[in-house]
Amino acid sequence: MDYKFGIAVIGAGYVGLVSSACFAELGFNVVCVDKDQKKIKKLQKGDSSIHEPSLTPLIQNNLATGRLKFSESLSEAVLNNDIILIAVGTPITEDKQADISEIENAAKEIAPLLNSYKIIVVKSTVPAGTCRQLLKTIRNLNYHAHFDIVSNPEFLRAGSGVKDFMMPDRIIIGAEKITIHLMMARLYQSFIDREIPIIQTTLESAELTKYAANSFLATKIAFTNEIAHLCEKLNADVHDVLKGVGLDKRIGKDYLQPGPGFGGSCLSKDALALTQSARIMDAPVRIIESVLESNKNHKKIIVEKIISACFGSVANKRLAILGIAFKANTDDVRESPALYLISMLQAQGAILNLYDPIVKEISLDLNVYWGHDVYDTLNGTDAIIIMTEWEEFRQLDLKRIRASLRNTIIEPTLIDLRNLYSPQEMIKAGIRYCSIGRKTQNIVYKENLEESYT
Ligand code: NAD
Repeated sequence: MDYKFGIAVIGAGYVGLVSSACFAELGFNVVCVDKDQKKIKKLQKGDSSIHEPSLTPLIQNNLATGRLKFSESLSEAVLNNDIILIAVGTPITEDKQADISEIENAAKEIAPLLNSYKIIVVKSTVPAGTCRQLLKTIRNLNYHAHFDIVSNPEFLRAGSGVKDFMMPDRIIIGAEKITIHLMMARLYQSFIDREIPIIQTTLESAELTKYAANSFLATKIAFTNEIAHLCEKLNADVHDVLKGVGLDKRIGKDYLQPGPGFGGSCLSKDALALTQSARIMDAPVRIIESVLESNKNHKKIIVEKIISACFGSVANKRLAILGIAFKANTDDVRESPALYLISMLQAQGAILNLYDPIVKEISLDLNVYWGHDVYDTLNGTDAIIIMTEWEEFRQLDLKRIRASLRNTIIEPTLIDLRNLYSPQEMIKAGIRYCSIGRKTQNIVYKENLEESYT
């Protein structure tokens, strides 16, 4: 059958925008709707509202073909399309539960517009039971509406969203009837043709899969960071240890990279939401609870590590922070460990220079200097802290760094919280170096340095 569904996507955020551009690229007619007028105006001109590799050309090409449109009118989009894909935010409430009010509101807006049969696909991450609750909400508002609801959680990662969407490890579809599964298979036909596994299951199983997957990833990261901490105490090398661990196929080598703690808009939020809903169901997930605790603790350890690398105090020392985004290739700063670090260091009296290749402002009330580039940021600082694994931070000119740190109160110090460099190359470069899960510091005394550099 040649007929291709028309798709309305509600929400032009990281998930909604990437899904819209990718489905348009796959040949569907897509209208992406957002209540944020400014965002829509920008998108209509072909300017992406987020930083995501390969997304801008995808948006521009598909705007040009007419397959992709952006609109503020939810009613028009819903009335004229067969599939309504919901990709609105599900943040955490004050009492640490998943806030599904945006989804509920979207469902209430959609309900009176269900003039012909439609499939409502929930792409947002929602607690098990939400889709069934939405079904009731819509039915209560429009008894005669002819529709079905599907849970189709999205697994893309900020920073590689387009690639992840187009080449997912699997697609999860939760639905009530086999006929709906068959229709969803038509939406994902090109993925099926490429033999990407599709798991067809119930609404609740699909919803829970997303939370379980993110909580497992958070567990791997927290585990890695705890082992890294232990490595420092035991004079072991975290990379050797985790290589040995990860080569076991039952474990796998991904997500075993030590760092400043997990952040971003998903891992902490989803792990937290899972712990809360599990408690309510009287089936506490104690491992995940301790993972969250461990991550909090790790972030404190990182602050202590920096203070200790600055000889016990950061007060009145000027520190450069390289990387504000929670990971490379994204402008997303939600729950970024850099934000926590910035506020903790400022509270301790540090003076901060900040730089990120994409992030140029943050909502914290800050008195900081934003550098124009890496080297401008380093000027006059006592130590450099690498927070995000941006490619450009892997290729720093070490001679220039050493020169810009030459007149520091402490010795030229690089605190590499992503282990982008090796202790050996830092000794060679004459930079005092501190990383994670490896010999804590290469203390190179100033006198020796002066000798080796003259
Ligand atoms: P986001 O905050 O970036 O975007 C949500 C968008 O929805 C906003 O632009 C908002 O204006 C819009 N919106 C809210 N209510 C609306 C309404 N009634 N009508 C029109 N527009 C509306 O969110 P996101 O990061 O894309 O996340 C969306 C969902 O996907 C969340 O549940 C999240 O957990 C999940 N998710 C996110 C990622 C990620 O990397 N960001 C990955 C996988 C899953």
